[in-house]
Amino acid sequence: MNILLLGSGGREHALAWKIAASPLAERFYCAPGNAGIAKECEVVALDIADHAAVIAFAKAHSIDLVVVGPEAPLCAGIVDDLAAAGIKAFGPSKAAARLEGSKGFTKDLCKANNIPTAAYARFTAAAPAKDYVRAQGAPIVVKADGLAAGKGVVVAASVAEAEAAIDMMFGGGLGEAGAELVVEEFLQGEEASFFALCDGETAIALASAQDHKRALDGDQGPNTGGMGAYSPAPVMTPELSRRAMDEIVLPTVRAMKAMGAPYKGVLYAGLMITAQGPKLIEYNVRFGDPETQVLMLRLMSDLVPALVASSDGMLKNFDLRWYPDAALTVVMAAKGYPGSYAKGSVIEGLEAAARIEGVEIFHAGTKAEGGRIVANGGRVLNVSALGKSVGEAQARAYQAVDRIQWADGFCRRDIGFRAVERERKL
Ligand code: AMP
Repeated sequence: MNILLLGSGGREHALAWKIAASPLAERFYCAPGNAGIAKECEVVALDIADHAAVIAFAKAHSIDLVVVGPEAPLCAGIVDDLAAAGIKAFGPSKAAARLEGSKGFTKDLCKANNIPTAAYARFTAAAPAKDYVRAQGAPIVVKADGLAAGKGVVVAASVAEAEAAIDMMFGGGLGEAGAELVVEEFLQGEEASFFALCDGETAIALASAQDHKRALDGDQGPNTGGMGAYSPAPVMTPELSRRAMDEIVLPTVRAMKAMGAPYKGVLYAGLMITAQGPKLIEYNVRFGDPETQVLMLRLMSDLVPALVASSDGMLKNFDLRWYPDAALTVVMAAKGYPGSYAKGSVIEGLEAAARIEGVEIFHAGTKAEGGRIVANGGRVLNVSALGKSVGEAQARAYQAVDRIQWADGFCRRDIGFRAVERERKL
């Protein structure tokens, strides 16, 4: 098969690493890619927001499958446009991608189908939203309806903070994404990411993971795209995974089919494990970043047939095998991230780091320049490792981090601490 992967982050490097290992992959391209992805396949300088350019490339290179990494092209309907041009793609249609593109859409779907989630109300104006906040009291959560690059959620500790968030969002602080809001109940519990592969009719569970969103050790500091992750998430017991499938994922797949927008692709459920069981915080319509990095390390089966089965509606009798080992990834970011940061600093020691047993280094924001690797983004490297336990994977990943010389970079030193603590108590 000729395969085209779209995206340029650590998620796409992990997918590229796995796709490149498939005996089914003949010609394999990634657009726009990065310096790490360039080691797995041929990278092409395509603007993936330009659907016509992607279609022209796919036709010219007889692409059999397009794998879409990020949410923006999915929500913009790239899978529909490719399908109209006769090109198979992995990922949801525009109508199905509303599960990520509109929080209000997803909340209404949950309500109509008894899918456990936080109590909520939708608003298009500030005054009624503030009345609702005052009636409910704090803590309370204010969310922009649309895609806001991770900035659309304010967990407000006070009514005043929630009101300020409402004013910011309706004031245009998040652009179009904030034209409508969801205000919802604050859920208490431990968070977990749960991934399922869907084919429009059915779904199979992939694996669970936990990520660390805050920039600094101890889960302190500003929110980021994710500073590290590990899999499996010990909080997701087999019983809770079964409940997540039966109570959340499968009813969603059935509801999407019933409304004529069958969901195909990866469904990434952000869950809160509450005293009553798993509740949906939000859906994403693509693989998580950096969770994909740990999922791909643990996946024993070939990824490509799974992606094809998802697109073709053939998951019913499909099975995936996983290594029992744990995997952990540490994000190395440019100093200043998630605020402003410099690009272009040189990174050394990557080969020595990759020689450590069980270690795989995925590139997130890098560029090759004159034979050297330089930083080219906020999140730059995902130093990842497999181990018999989360503790062993963590030790290997940090051993690798310590071999990397990059003066302008930083990372958290405690990725996986909750799981490692649990392991110590066993
Ligand atoms: P989201 O972008 O929807 O994943 O939200 C970002 C983060 O906000 C989540 O990972 C949670 O930590 C937090 N959050 C979102 N909704 C709630 C909620 N209803 N209760 C508690 N925390 C929440």
